[in-house]
Amino acid sequence: MAMERFKKSAELYKEACRFLPAGVSSNLRAFPIFDPHPIFLQRAKGSHVWDVDGNEMIDLLGAFGAAILGHLHPRVMDAVRKQLEEATMLGTPTELELKTAKLFCELVPYADQVRFGMTGTESTMHAIRIARAFTGKNKFIKFEGHYHGTHDYVSVAVGSTAGSEIAPYKVPNTPGVPEETLKTVVVLPWNNLEVLEKTIKRQRQDMAAILMEPIMCNGGLVFPEKEYLEGVRELCTENDIILIFDEVVTGFRIALGGASEYFGVKPDLGTFAKCMSGGVPCAAIAGKREIMSTIKPGGTMHAGTYNANLISLAGAHATMTELKHQGKAGYERFHGLGKKLIGGLKEAADKANQRVFLPGFTGWFLMYFTEKTEFKNFRDVNAGIDFAKFSKFAWEMMRRGVYVHPDALERINISFAHTEEDVNKIVAAASEAFKTL
Ligand code: PMP
Repeated sequence: MAMERFKKSAELYKEACRFLPAGVSSNLRAFPIFDPHPIFLQRAKGSHVWDVDGNEMIDLLGAFGAAILGHLHPRVMDAVRKQLEEATMLGTPTELELKTAKLFCELVPYADQVRFGMTGTESTMHAIRIARAFTGKNKFIKFEGHYHGTHDYVSVAVGSTAGSEIAPYKVPNTPGVPEETLKTVVVLPWNNLEVLEKTIKRQRQDMAAILMEPIMCNGGLVFPEKEYLEGVRELCTENDIILIFDEVVTGFRIALGGASEYFGVKPDLGTFAKCMSGGVPCAAIAGKREIMSTIKPGGTMHAGTYNANLISLAGAHATMTELKHQGKAGYERFHGLGKKLIGGLKEAADKANQRVFLPGFTGWFLMYFTEKTEFKNFRDVNAGIDFAKFSKFAWEMMRRGVYVHPDALERINISFAHTEEDVNKIVAAASEAFKTL
């Protein structure tokens, strides 16, 4: 499907494949997810992006969800610009680090202490280590379909499934993960308290942590069933297991204080990235003082040349400040807009006789082409939706000026910068796109 509209992207991609494996720096941006080729974006402002061919598009990727305030938010940019004049990275403690930590701990309900890093991947990697060190136990539980980045311990049971639903096989999602590593990982179905309870009963002596996305955001978009998080919390407390919420997606998006504010359940540790810094790279591990304070020289190792560099902190501090300033009213408007978009897309699909299901929270969601209306876990999603049709829909949207990632499991993100006008235009484009399917 060569497209005149994206001609320069096609040319650049061809050349990029000579110098970058698959032409990209992150597999999720490459062919065949983008078939025939990805679109090369060049600049962005607010809720809009421009590609190398000069096409303007309303952005529904939002830098994989990081651009919570939209692109180049003036407050964030001013802070970063000002910081650029002073220093970019110093490799010492800084006052800005302290200021950012204080604000973070004020906003996230279970954060007594926080450590800053650069990516969600390293945050989950370190969180698992911290839990192991603190409990003196080795194993941890991860759930089928939950994504926590690319390090070995979590590169399992992500993109595909095998075995029975209640006893999934540990399918690595990449070659190169040692079997030995996976011996310390227990994979379970999510949203099933009974299986979790039985497993913990048998293995509590070995179990250091339970790691989960508090809302499954990567293997489809599925909310925890009623009382599920409370049940998991209780099991962890009773059995000396560290509960880790991976809030890389939910943090600062579902609510200012993330999933624990929204659900009223506090994990022991949480991992953050994306929205905490509004498009500037920054990440965090946060949690209870008694656990976090074991990270120290002579104790648990956590270090990094780029950790708490001043550009990341400037972005994070300004983003959190702006989100705090927006407050409840800002989040309500944000989610209200998402609700309108979901409603508009559903109506447009119905009119075009397309069966779709739009799960998720209103600040981000997915759209499944499916006859089904109930999804409890990754298996339901993976087997129940039409991926090829979604990809076609995404391209039809891109041709009509709306950037949609063609993977049906990649979240559709709006930002605080999206407007009613954007929503109307997206729905109008979708009405046309649905008719072509
Ligand atoms: N955890 C979750 C829940 C994520 O969605 C992601 C990235 N999409 C990660 C961890 C990994 O974060 P990063 O890409 O910054 O390494």
